[in-house]
Amino acid sequence: MQEKGLLIVLSGPSGVGKGTVRKAIFSQPDTEFEYSISMTTRTPREGEVNGVDYFFKSREEFEGLIEQDRLLEYAEFVGNYYGTPVDYVRETLDSGKDVFLEIEVKGARQVREKFPEGLFIFLMPPSLHELKNRIVTRGTETDDLITNRLLSAREEIEMMDLYDYIVENDQVELASERIIAIVKAEHCRRERV
Ligand code: 5GP
Repeated sequence: MQEKGLLIVLSGPSGVGKGTVRKAIFSQPDTEFEYSISMTTRTPREGEVNGVDYFFKSREEFEGLIEQDRLLEYAEFVGNYYGTPVDYVRETLDSGKDVFLEIEVKGARQVREKFPEGLFIFLMPPSLHELKNRIVTRGTETDDLITNRLLSAREEIEMMDLYDYIVENDQVELASERIIAIVKAEHCRRERV
């Protein structure tokens, strides 16, 4: 029987540079996974091509896809819909290829429910990494500063628990190398049995 591919989800807070890291990963000649092109209602930016960067849809078309259950996940982000086409993902995984999603955190949460066995990678800005270290090492402190930081970081830290790996985006090249290494390691780990 054909071994199923691995579903790789790259997510993280807005502005962390997911798109840039994803492009760096796919610019590597030996990248072996397939990028799932998302649907969006956002207007194309200059240079963006329909069917390459996104499938650009009207709101009506997108809502039709939601009604027909054609999306693995979707979310509204800054007034626009973004979603992952479910058929493409399932068919590609069934053919034995790995699928790579680059999506925001609300969508990643939905994917985790449907594909708990997926590989979830959280891309983190260096400053948040520092913050998390501080919270972890000084978590018992009760001064106002720590409490406030804990409160404001809580939402993202809760989301981080959902992920298998946290990758710091200190430098795009380094972050993309780490992600490629994680995927390779994950294959070795899963093929062990
Ligand atoms: P942008 O408009 O800058 O291309 O993307 C905005 C945000 O939407 C980014 O955080 C990007 O990762 C996210 N995004 C892109 N495609 C999808 C998708 O299919 N689903 C979800 N939930 N988010 C997406």
